[in-house]
Amino acid sequence: MLYKYCAEREIPHKQLGKLIVATGVAETAKLDMILKNAKQNGVDDLQMMEGSQAMEMEPELQCLKALLSPRTGIVDSHSLMLSLLADAENLGTTISYNTTVTNGYVGAEGLEVHTCESQELENHSLGSPVSPQLILLPKLLINSAGLSAVPLAKRFHGLNQVCVPHAYYARGCYFTLSQTRSPFSHLIYPLPEDGGIGVHVTLDLNGLVRFGPDVEWIDSGKDVMSCFLNRFDYMVNPTRCSKFYPVIRKYFPNLKDGSLEPGYSGIRPKLSGPGQPPSDFVIQGEDIHGIPGLVNLFGIESPGLTSSLAIAEYIVSRYLR
Ligand SMILES: Cc1cc2nc3c(=O)[nH]c(=O)nc-3n(C[C@H](O)[C@H](O)[C@H](O)COP(=O)(O)OP(=O)(O)OC[C@H]3O[C@@H](n4cnc5c(N)ncnc54)[C@H](O)[C@@H]3O)c2cc1C
Repeated sequence: MLYKYCAEREIPHKQLGKLIVATGVAETAKLDMILKNAKQNGVDDLQMMEGSQAMEMEPELQCLKALLSPRTGIVDSHSLMLSLLADAENLGTTISYNTTVTNGYVGAEGLEVHTCESQELENHSLGSPVSPQLILLPKLLINSAGLSAVPLAKRFHGLNQVCVPHAYYARGCYFTLSQTRSPFSHLIYPLPEDGGIGVHVTLDLNGLVRFGPDVEWIDSGKDVMSCFLNRFDYMVNPTRCSKFYPVIRKYFPNLKDGSLEPGYSGIRPKLSGPGQPPSDFVIQGEDIHGIPGLVNLFGIESPGLTSSLAIAEYIVSRYLR
């Protein structure tokens, strides 16, 4: 869906292909699991290859076996967002920037959503009630608040809290490769690790190479308003690169000392914590929590961007009547 949309709207993108690589004997069975899982989910174009074959495609790569995903690609995410914004506005959408949804209520008349200017919350003291500046009575409310989706659902009076999962947060740092020529032409992914998809190679449309993200479990934050205002710490600690070198050198042995520079970080809204098996997206409507007109999107971490059009289509087909 995304390739089709990008082609129609002339959004810069490239179908580079991805190699998921096993670098140790114990890992090759995990590649088989990924292949099996992909087939079960209708992804039928993955190709298992011997290390030699993959290393021929990518001379800087070292691996024992690899799984090629030819359909994987990269997209200019900012152009994608601008295009979606333009489409929404053309269809009559009004976007209220700098506005925070602070609470929800489920009443006899339906849903009630309390909102206020985000600036009002800047100096809000912890624990004191927030007065709404505008109360909305939506027919359909999609809680797609990302990192705040779970805390927001917790502030929905009348929503059975058994349906609201625990939120975990994992920061991931990226380091960029200082050399200008990319050593790889495909995206290179190691096997998924606890809490993440592994420190992999990503290339952007300008050919810049980044490695990441790692996994750093962070405090979910006791202050809900800080979470709504996204006051998470996005600092990339340069010393974290010492953990990147050995991990990357497992599949890119020629990585030179001193070639990694701090890039940026992102925070994933996770539904499973350290040591727990990974969880899937949760798309929760009336059939699950019993409240007409409310859809909660929990744990929409990567590949949430890739899946965005499919998630939207699913919600429309299931909950928009
Ligand atoms: C570093 C990083 C790399 C990633 N790489 C990929 C990738 O390669 N491929 C991929 O498919 N996905 C990737 N993702 C995941 C992707 O970015 C997310 O899945 C996607 O952005 C989720 O979209 P969303 O709309 O659900 O949430 P978000 O994009 O988080 O948007 C939530 C919005 O809600 C707003 N909000 C929060 N609280 C409130 C409130 N109380 N009231 C009003 N508004 C509120 C926020 O300000 C924000 O604008 C990556 C994520 C990170 C962090």
